Amino acid sequence: LSCAFKKNVLPRYVRVNILKVSSEKVIERLKLDGKILVNNKKYKDLSVNEFCVDKDIPDLLVFESRTDFHKNLMYINGEILLQDKASCLPAFILNPPMGSMIIDACAAPGNKSSHLASITYNKSQIFSFDLDFNRLKLMQKLLKKSACTSVKTKHQDFLKVQHCHPLYSKVEYILLDPSCSGSGIVSRMDEFLDDEDSTFTNDSRLKALSGFQTAALSHALQFPNVKKVVYSTCSVHKEENEDVVEKAYNRFKETFHLCHAFPEWSNRGIGEWEQAYKCVRAVPTIDYTNGFFVALFERSNHHDVNLV
Ligand code: SAM
Repeated sequence: LSCAFKKNVLPRYVRVNILKVSSEKVIERLKLDGKILVNNKKYKDLSVNEFCVDKDIPDLLVFESRTDFHKNLMYINGEILLQDKASCLPAFILNPPMGSMIIDACAAPGNKSSHLASITYNKSQIFSFDLDFNRLKLMQKLLKKSACTSVKTKHQDFLKVQHCHPLYSKVEYILLDPSCSGSGIVSRMDEFLDDEDSTFTNDSRLKALSGFQTAALSHALQFPNVKKVVYSTCSVHKEENEDVVEKAYNRFKETFHLCHAFPEWSNRGIGEWEQAYKCVRAVPTIDYTNGFFVALFERSNHHDVNLV
């Protein structure tokens, strides 16, 4: 990885919380603050006072990496969230409609739950699970601040959520962003590069993680009414990404297919598996985001399949 992508060099991404304020209003306020809206500039070339509207993700604004919003009133009152572009991909790709029932399986600290609530204008029902009590508390704070009234948080192991539970059996959309090695997080990459024995190269940890990830994805694909499942990680390892998806695909291919997710996105899944290209990869040096992976499963409609 080039030196240019060591600590804190990604652009600063700001997601407008449309549950509280419109992008137009935020842009207007930023301009009054002296920021300049520019077009057609590479994100890495933005200067300190400039910003632009992201070309892929609605309501996402892009700033120079050192731009600090922690004291900005819009950040303090939950009108804007600091969320990396790659981390916006899962909810954007799942794209649940208003009125749907959704599970965010490993949800804390809640960025993706809040994004799902925004995409559905708080007109859906979102069940957000997490095993870690402290992270769950953090999520509750973020969701309250962001006015995500459609999210119910649950301190529960997702693997133990019953498929036949009267509420969850109706769920149609699942976002699964499980614990991973975090090897795609740019600010952590120099730690990984500096330490041969670090998480980056620890085979047994990778094995344990990919075992959990495969179990969680298999669990998600067994909800009786689920139509779409998004699987994502902030890992660059094939063992946590394409390999997990391939295993789940082989087990559930009678009922689910892998969609060609976000076809306009150029970086795709890696490796020998012939369906890997259907997965999305975000690559720091090319996409100016953290390293990230997303795959989308959809229930096959056998009737339609037979017609093709
Ligand atoms: N999606 C979150 C977001 O966008 O803010 C980040 C999720 S983080 C990558 C993974 C989370 O999974 C952690 O908060 C961890 O506590 C939780 N987790 C791990 N195992 C779990 C399990 N069996 N059931 C539910 N949550 C779990």
